[in-house]
Amino acid sequence: MLDKFRDECGVFGIVGHAEAANLAYLGLYALQHRGQESAGIAASDGSVVRHRKAMGYVNEAFDAEALATLPGHLAIGHVRYSTAGESRLANAQPIVVDSVHGEFAICHNGNLVNASDVRDALVREGAIFQTSSDTEVVVHLFARSREESTEKAVIDALSQVRGAFSFVMMSRDRVFGVRDPHGFRPLVLGRFDGAWVLGSETCALDLIGATYERDVEPGELVVLSAAGIKSIKPFLPAAQAQCIFEHVYFARPDSYVFGESVNEVRTGLGRRLARERPVEADVVVPVPDSGVCAAVGFAEASGIPMRFGLIRNHYVGRTFIEPRQSIRHFGVRVKLNPVRSIIEGQRVVLVDDSIVRGTTSRKIVRMVRSAGAREVHMRISCPPTISPCFYGVDTPRRSELIAATHSLEEIRKYLDADSLAYLSLEGLTAGVKGGASKYCTSCYTGTYPVVFPRDEAAYLQLALKLSPESPAAERPEPLVPVFDKDPVTS
Ligand code: SF4
Repeated sequence: MLDKFRDECGVFGIVGHAEAANLAYLGLYALQHRGQESAGIAASDGSVVRHRKAMGYVNEAFDAEALATLPGHLAIGHVRYSTAGESRLANAQPIVVDSVHGEFAICHNGNLVNASDVRDALVREGAIFQTSSDTEVVVHLFARSREESTEKAVIDALSQVRGAFSFVMMSRDRVFGVRDPHGFRPLVLGRFDGAWVLGSETCALDLIGATYERDVEPGELVVLSAAGIKSIKPFLPAAQAQCIFEHVYFARPDSYVFGESVNEVRTGLGRRLARERPVEADVVVPVPDSGVCAAVGFAEASGIPMRFGLIRNHYVGRTFIEPRQSIRHFGVRVKLNPVRSIIEGQRVVLVDDSIVRGTTSRKIVRMVRSAGAREVHMRISCPPTISPCFYGVDTPRRSELIAATHSLEEIRKYLDADSLAYLSLEGLTAGVKGGASKYCTSCYTGTYPVVFPRDEAAYLQLALKLSPESPAAERPEPLVPVFDKDPVTS
């Protein structure tokens, strides 16, 4: 409902614990924010790999009875929001196959940019695909590998795909964790009660009481078994391109990703935003929940008090059925409600982490005005989002990104804000360890570290002829939002 980039997927793995499947369930529970459409767990007792997956939240997909069918000391798990392949149970993960290399299960966070090309080539050679997921090409490449060991077959398969991947994979007696050479998506390694644990974020380790050891490095494959851990660097080194949006929005603020506290990074971005784009105001109000950390930083640096002037209803399900046509268009009020006593008569700084289409931000600004705000100043803790993501994040087409097709002033007017300002790209990259050299910032720049297939490239080439600074006359009519109509009343 809220206008955000959609989270990708979350992965988890554990080796060496009698309650492996139960711990995978808990780990996935902590990673639920990374995917809400389906959940799955595969477990091995050393001789058989069993798995179960279902649509819905983790607690809907599994109960005690279901987990009891997954015995063993090894388990991997996945929560999914589809980024490639339509949403249906066949596309849920883990994908589990029985191949010449033995039973094998795979969970993926990311997007393989050459999946269509590889898939087409495999289909021409007679391969039959069961899903429309990009992950399945790795399964086919693994199964067809002529390498003798499982480990070498995994490396052989991975060396043929490009793009963003953090995989957690499992054979009968080993779990593999790997990040692509650019390191787009996170993957952390931990220990619990003698077991090895892998997870997309440290919040998954925290929930089960595991300790964080380190990140799996970009381009590193770790092989976890009863014998311990083995680290392999099977790929040519590549420029690092960790997803900076993990820090801006995706990851949980209580997590560490890419070796840094998400909360500290977000709060620091808020401080930088206040220094870069100051404004005279009475109260800082975060757009919950995503704007809270940045608002704390903004308030600290500006000296303007922060108060929770918008309250989020956490009990709205995945879908909200509007009860009757005649009283529809509750819009964003279903999820957010203003606190009039905090907002009335005040000059309000609204702090949020991003604007995608602008439709929700517009409703929020209007909601704050309707609660009596004297002025509404919008501050965004990242630069304007001008390009889609091809690395495992569900984003709208470029033409739907408001900052790709409209100037800052046009966006301000559309939002009905008294002022609007974004954090600069320099401010964003200075706020993370290693800066621009370690991070992907493609959705803010339109410059992509890994090239993608012809059709997408052609689409982008056309799209990128334009920049947000282009005079309006040079730009085509936007497809959405339609500015002269109010799409939804708030
Ligand atoms: S394009 Fe944006 S969302 Fe995608 S990987 Fe790069 S920084 Fe992350």
